[in-house]
This record gives sequence, C-alpha cells and structure tokens, in this order.
Amino acid sequence: ARQFNKILVTGGAGFIGSHVVRLLVNKYPEYQIYNLDSLTYAGNLENLKDVEGKSNYHFIKGDITNADFIHNLFADYGFDAVIHLAAESHVDRSISDPLSFVRTNVIGTMNLLNSAKNSWVSDFSGKVFYHISTDEVYGTLGEEGLFREDTPYDPNSPYSASKASSDHFVRAYGETYGLPYIISNCSNNYGPNQFPEKLIPLFINNIIKKENLPVYGDGKYTRDWLFVKDHAVAIDLLLHKGAIKETFNIGGFNEWQNIELIQLLCSVMDRKLGRNRGESEELITFVKDRPGHDKRYAIDASKINSELGWRPSVTFEEGIEETIDWYLKNEKWLVNVTTGDYQKYYLKQYK
Ligand code: NAD
Repeated sequence: ARQFNKILVTGGAGFIGSHVVRLLVNKYPEYQIYNLDSLTYAGNLENLKDVEGKSNYHFIKGDITNADFIHNLFADYGFDAVIHLAAESHVDRSISDPLSFVRTNVIGTMNLLNSAKNSWVSDFSGKVFYHISTDEVYGTLGEEGLFREDTPYDPNSPYSASKASSDHFVRAYGETYGLPYIISNCSNNYGPNQFPEKLIPLFINNIIKKENLPVYGDGKYTRDWLFVKDHAVAIDLLLHKGAIKETFNIGGFNEWQNIELIQLLCSVMDRKLGRNRGESEELITFVKDRPGHDKRYAIDASKINSELGWRPSVTFEEGIEETIDWYLKNEKWLVNVTTGDYQKYYLKQYK
C-alpha cells in the first residue's frame, strides 16, 4: 500500500468530506491531514468538532477558484496526495445558477490539477491526485442495466456536466502530463451531517416538523443509495491501493424508487417519534418534476469489489436507522444549518 505524509482534502467541511477527514485523522496519526474549504452554505466545521484538537488535523479556509492561493498552498506545504471533494453539489441549484458550478467544479479542479502537476512534475512517484465524482456523469438508465466504468459519459444536468468536465480534465492531465490520478464515481450518499436540501435529510427534517414532503413527478425515480461511512472506507482503500490512472465505480447494491424510500422513512420516523402508523405518509405531496430529471441510476461496483474486496458494510435499513437517530439527536445542528447559524461556529472557533 502507498504511504503519505501530507494529504490535502478539499471540501472537508462538507458532508462526505467530513467523514473522509475523520477517518483519515483517526486511522493515520502519522499523516498530516489538511482540510481546505471555503465554507460555503454547505461547509460546516461543526461536522468536525471531534477531530479539531488532534495534532495531525489542520483546517485552512480558502477557495479553490483562486489560482494564486492554490499555487502558494502547494508551494508552502508540499502535499503528496490530494483528495478532491470540494464542489457545488446540488442539482437543483445547478439549474438556477449553472455558472457557479463551472467556477468551482471545473475551474477549481483545474487550479488543483495545475498546482499538483507543477509541484510534482520533477518526481511523480508516490503522488496521487484522487478526484471524487458522481455516477450522474453517465446520464440515465432505463429499467435494465448498470453503469460500468466504461459506460460513455452522457450528463444531463448542469451539475453532472460540470462533474463530467472535471473528470475529463483529470484524465487528460494523466494522459498528457503523466499526473498520477484516481477517479471514483459514486452513487447517492446518505448519512449523518448531510445538508437538509438533499432528499433524505430534507424529508427527515420535514417529518419532524410535520411539513409537506415534496415528491418530484410520479415518485418512480430510482436511485442507488450508499451509506456515507462506507463511501469514506472505499476512498481510503482506493487512495492507498487503487490502481493509478484508473476509474472505479462505487455503489451500494441498493436501488430504491423515491416513493418507496419515502414510505420507509415515514414508517421508521412514525415508530421513533411515537406517531400513529401512516401519519407521516399523509405529508407526501407530488410536485412538478425537475427538468432534465434522470429516470434511474444504478452502479456496477464489481471492479472495486473484485480488485480490492470492498463492499458496503451496512444494510440500507441499518444505515437509515443510524441516520435518523443522528438527526433526532442533533436537532440543534439541523436548526443551525437551516438558519445559517452554523457560520457563527466558524467565527467563534477561528476568528
Ligand atoms: P457538500 O456540498 O456537502 O460539500 C461540498 C464542500 O465543498 C463544502 O464544505 C463546501 O464549503 C466546499 N466548497 C464548495 N465550493 C468550494 C470552493 N470554491 N473552494 C473550497 N471549498 C468549496 O458535498 P458532498 O455531498 O459532500 O459531495 C462531496 C463530493 O462528492 C462532490 O465532489 C460531489 O460531486 C461528490 N459526490 C457526492 C455524492 C452525494 O451523494 N452527496 C455522490 C457522489 C459524488
């Protein structure tokens, strides 16, 4: 397995990034972990309170769209690996403001690629640029079939188009300049610390508050769901053992139609909140469909499974229980992020 000294994690204050940072800081006390995040609405340092005091954890506030800043950072620190998660990540926001997705997801990735290449070019050995991406780059599936690593790219939303573009640039830097990269494309994540604009935490929050549960179209959209901690384990594994200049699909072997998933959430929440059976389901309201909505995503994760032995460690029911318990226990977190109050945490801790 590869070993590292200094790892730059971008977007570490976000949902998936915070789980990756926590895993690395705790598992590898000999590594220095640098969390670079500009703290947009989606970045929240409260997600990492428990690792804040550790001597191998460092937070850097900064924006990946600032090329000079990124250049200086690489010159100052001499990272030997990058795990790049920072992104604008919400499809609905990409429909109303596509350009901000180009800035962060495409130009921000370019800045990191240029700085990594320039700082590593004299000796690429032992270096890894690990780019975290999504299965949405493959477009949509009919009722049959799975996305494989060789499925042609066919993005339909501005979000997936920006991620596809960044994936292509990463691969091109490998081919053109010899940059040692890994790309993984993962299905929908769920779990603690996810911002409540995304389906599962949005619905948990609305069920708690007895507010409407807006379901797009006929609710028959199908997604594969992966528990975020299992994604973090896959990222750790690929960073250390994944073949260089290759792509890996990561998925949960766990497909759900939106409406069935929402019914599951409602029934678990009714039980946990001591409500009558079926009470929360009455909150479901069908709303106008999202334009360009992909019908079905499903992942063939057999490559990472056969090459590295990875598979999800929890069932969906177990992951959902843990997730709901976390949101019920952390209602203050939920209130803080929905009111913007979480930014006060940063001001208090770091200013
Ligand atoms: P998130 O929105 O929760 O977190 C993104 C983080 O990036 C935030 O902390 C934000 O402050 C930071 N960030 C945004 N713009 C930045 C900038 N210009 N400079 C520095 N930091 C910036 O996202 P997430 O759900 O944790 O997703 C992380 C990565 O994983 C993204 O690249 C996303 O495309 C990918 N991904 C997500 C999923 C999913 O289901 N959430 C699935 C597959 C892949």
